[in-house]
Amino acid sequence: MAELEGLEFGKSDFVLLDEVNMEQFMENLQLRFEKGRIYTFIGEVVVSVNPYKQMDIYGKVAIEAYRGRELYENPPHLYAVADAAYKAMKRRAKDTCIVISGESGAGKTEASKYIMQYIAAITNPNQREEVESVKNVLLKSNCVLEAFGNAKTNRNDNSSRFGKYMDINFNFNGDPTGGHINNYLLEKSRVVQQHAGERNFHSFYQLLRGGTDDMLSNLHLQRNPEAYVYSKEGASVITGFNDGSLHKAVLSAMKVIGFTSEEISSIYKIIATILLLGNLEFECDGEIVQLPGAGSVSHVAELTGTEPETVSKALLYRTVATGGGEVIEKGHNKLEACFGRDAFAKALYERLFAWIVGRINTVIEVKNYNPALHGKNTVIGVLDIYGFEIFDNNSFEQFCINYCNEKLQQLFIELILQQEQEEYHREGITWQHIEYFNNQIIVDLVEQLHKGIISILDEACLTVGKVTDTVCLETMNTKLGQHPHFTSRKHCPTDKTMDFQRHFRIRHYAGDVTYSIEGFLDKNKDPLFQDFKRLMYNSADPVLKEMWPDGQLSITEVTKRPLTAATLFKNSIIALVENLACKEPYYVRCIKPNDVKSPVLFDDARCRHQVAYLGLLENVRVRRAGFAYRQPYARFLQRYKMTCEYTWPNHLMDTDREAVEAIVTQHGFEGDVAYGHTKLFVRTPRSLFTLEQERAAL
Ligand code: ATP
Ligand code: MG
Repeated sequence: MAELEGLEFGKSDFVLLDEVNMEQFMENLQLRFEKGRIYTFIGEVVVSVNPYKQMDIYGKVAIEAYRGRELYENPPHLYAVADAAYKAMKRRAKDTCIVISGESGAGKTEASKYIMQYIAAITNPNQREEVESVKNVLLKSNCVLEAFGNAKTNRNDNSSRFGKYMDINFNFNGDPTGGHINNYLLEKSRVVQQHAGERNFHSFYQLLRGGTDDMLSNLHLQRNPEAYVYSKEGASVITGFNDGSLHKAVLSAMKVIGFTSEEISSIYKIIATILLLGNLEFECDGEIVQLPGAGSVSHVAELTGTEPETVSKALLYRTVATGGGEVIEKGHNKLEACFGRDAFAKALYERLFAWIVGRINTVIEVKNYNPALHGKNTVIGVLDIYGFEIFDNNSFEQFCINYCNEKLQQLFIELILQQEQEEYHREGITWQHIEYFNNQIIVDLVEQLHKGIISILDEACLTVGKVTDTVCLETMNTKLGQHPHFTSRKHCPTDKTMDFQRHFRIRHYAGDVTYSIEGFLDKNKDPLFQDFKRLMYNSADPVLKEMWPDGQLSITEVTKRPLTAATLFKNSIIALVENLACKEPYYVRCIKPNDVKSPVLFDDARCRHQVAYLGLLENVRVRRAGFAYRQPYARFLQRYKMTCEYTWPNHLMDTDREAVEAIVTQHGFEGDVAYGHTKLFVRTPRSLFTLEQERAAL
């Protein structure tokens, strides 16, 4: 067993603070960070501070120390939570999930990888080949997903630009049998444009820097990322990793997972197509728009298995159905042509990413599992999703991401705070009520049908004729003017920090965020001309064709009202939350200590803000006021009856509750428990641990 830490490292569980207030919390957090103790518990929740340096706390020896132990036996660690989630799943056949949250750069993805490595290390003691292969694919999938879904941003050199939820399935032995990955809202606008100092997705630079000369020449690419409009912004940006060698690692991971060489070739053809599309320029000859770069068009056609004429046509014209049911071709103006090209490039990448995730899923999904034969198939879910974002300029993406965080906070409140309080009430246990802010009102502001912001956006997008962003903002101001979490001209007419023609502000649970409405409607409508879809559907490349099933519809068959981006996102997040709600949750709350990636700087103001919006103080209060463990009397008695003379070998008491009281009294921890109507509640883990030890010794 690893040594428990001494007091010089601060309190290893915030529950043990002398007083629960921000000052003491921050003092303890900082002390621990400075002493290299990056993890601290709040009961079963792990608070993690990004160390920004390699720590010697992972690997085989540490894994062995945590394996199968109780949470309180070792210093706080991700492994302890991973083990708790695994034990609950295995002992009680419960589906569990580990929710990892925190802002960009706080260490969520690294944490999710350590957790997966831990689970992989402690399972399959018999080294069964098929289980080893599932584990290998699960671990290798990270490398591929990071190549295509991560990018360098100003906050994080390896920032995940998508949300990820991964289910790992287990058989009755507790060994992984497969899994499933869901991805959420890939930031596809990055494909065509990046902020200063940021890069496009890693995959572009990896191909250009790591592909062989032959490969690049077959793809009609030059090696230099600066040669391409879509990759030149970040071309000279230095990151901590080597794009060239990562390309080789990704290729080998794809092979291990089971991508065929045709599939890998199609993937890189799509990446090349996107780079070439970005360099296509349109010229105007009077009203008529033309494509001078015929060579590039024929390369695009070759790479996508289409004809140069049809590629040009899709770039220059769109097919429209007139009111009378007639189908005509309408030439683009230059702006429309550029818009269409960029939308096409973004959609190509988005569908490629979704296809890669789907392809990994076909490999890892559990096949031929027969519950009658193999017992219940249980699941551990791991969620690594974007944290709350407040930038200088907040747009549609931040709106979606922050809505997602409101939903997760709501789940946290429901599961941890509300359910706790309600259960104490039901069980008749005296309980000191904890005040907390229930953010349901903000969730409603965003998602409520007809009245919420998403509905207002959708209505504006579906209105025939041109509704501008500004008009939509006006509607929001009128409809939501009275809402306490929506700042409008109506109740803040003198607010100089806002331009009411362009901004709206939401008072999120984590703080105020001002959104700029510009581009909201376009991003929500996310239009892509049907001509591109048809072009791709008619590709001779079967992989590409598979990504575009909707391209088979003719213009007259296209549904008039496709779901908007915000509604699709909302639906996926509602489904995610429903899925998490029926699992037993474990939480990892990640904190970023500073904005300069320093291993020694603890920026008090930045950390304080994160502690506040992660709701950590409320969490400590609930934990302290409450009882960490509970069990129905009968079950408790069943497990521990042999440790007490009044209950073993004969049950000498009248009721189960009295028998449980006898056990508790005999072991002297009356002060640590409360008796509910049907359950025993235990405050700290130590009492249970004593019983467990005694039971094991018998
Ligand atoms: P994003 O939301 O942008 O994806 P994130 O929360 O997933 O951010 P990570 O990518 O996990 O952040 O971490 C950012 C960087 O911080 C890592 O690339 C690594 O350099 C460092 N880091 C995070 N956790 C650890 C750790 N446990 N040990 C050492 N370094 C770490
Ligand atoms: Mg990440």
